[in-house]
Amino acid sequence: MGNRADTNRQWLLASRPSGEPTMENFEMVETDVPTPGAHEVLVRTLYMSVDPYMRGRMRDAESYAEPWDVGDPMRAGVVGEVVESNHPDFEADDVVTGDLRWADYAVCEGRDLRTVDPDRGPISAALGVLGMPGVTAYFGTTDVAEPTPGDTVVVSAAAGAVGSVVGQIAALSGARVVGIAGADEKVEWLESVGFDAAINYDDGDVSTALEETCPEGVDVYFDNVGGPITDAVWPLLNVRSRVAVCGQIALYNATELPTGPRKLGKLVETRGTVEGFLVRDYEGRWGEALDRLSTWVADGDVQYRENVVEGLENAPEAFLGLFEGTKIGKQLVRVGERSA
Ligand code: NDP
Repeated sequence: MGNRADTNRQWLLASRPSGEPTMENFEMVETDVPTPGAHEVLVRTLYMSVDPYMRGRMRDAESYAEPWDVGDPMRAGVVGEVVESNHPDFEADDVVTGDLRWADYAVCEGRDLRTVDPDRGPISAALGVLGMPGVTAYFGTTDVAEPTPGDTVVVSAAAGAVGSVVGQIAALSGARVVGIAGADEKVEWLESVGFDAAINYDDGDVSTALEETCPEGVDVYFDNVGGPITDAVWPLLNVRSRVAVCGQIALYNATELPTGPRKLGKLVETRGTVEGFLVRDYEGRWGEALDRLSTWVADGDVQYRENVVEGLENAPEAFLGLFEGTKIGKQLVRVGERSA
């Protein structure tokens, strides 16, 4: 049986945020370490992921996913070590990933876990480039945005977990790629990993910068943010352009959706398409995405960064940072060390 502590720290949703979440919305409690039942596995968290979609779960509103109830444990993508297994596919010390909890330990059905292959890269990558964000980038680019050689592709939140991979895949397909991000350091990194140009939206007028960097307009826009940045891209859309709507993080903390000049007339002019998508629609095709992504990573064609915050106690702060743009690449929290 693997390494096990006496108590389990876990974060609960203490209250629903109004606007920007604050520390008041989170509460840490200590309980006994849970015991796995039939077909279940006890997992000790090594890394947990914080993701923008969690803001939606904190809200009591209809969405594509059920909201968390106040008082419920917060859930997260986790890479962890098996402590005890009542499932034939897993044994103690296996490294696994699944949708578990903001906690030191969690129990779940064995069928909801996947083994992490350490030969594919660092185990933490299973929450980033070789996990949900990478798979989102892969299908969002290859199946929805579909860049072709010579296209100009613009990506927002380009230095994030999804955006950074989108831009590099689009570059591999022969497109010219322009990223938008919120810091000079992010711009430098993007230009070093194959983006043809990048814009710091915090440094001057983004519309002017886009006009300068996209003199032939925009054929594909991969939208992670919505709001004013998307407004700035819109006038540059070319005839037959495609907009892949992946996320709208600029609006996740809005208490009311802003209205303003309507931009849809542009689609009449361009005969363009706007398509939203969800990574969970590709559940049956993860293997295909992970095979391609791990080959690209191994060959150095797709590079990635992780920003690791130390300690479960700092998980809310790491989550809040997603709305401040404080990190480059995938935001993770290191909760425990491997026992072996
Ligand atoms: P990121 O790693 O990109 O982190 C979020 C980033 O968004 C921040 O670092 C910040 O970077 C930027 N940002 C935050 N607030 C704003 C704002 N108000 N205006 C502009 N930029 C902002 O997150 P992910 O890569 O995990 O997710 C990116 C998007 O993809 C999110 O919208 C998410 O909800 C969506 N998503 C959708 C999925 C799907 O199935 N459709 C699956 C996974 C993610 P910066 O410095 O650039 O401001």
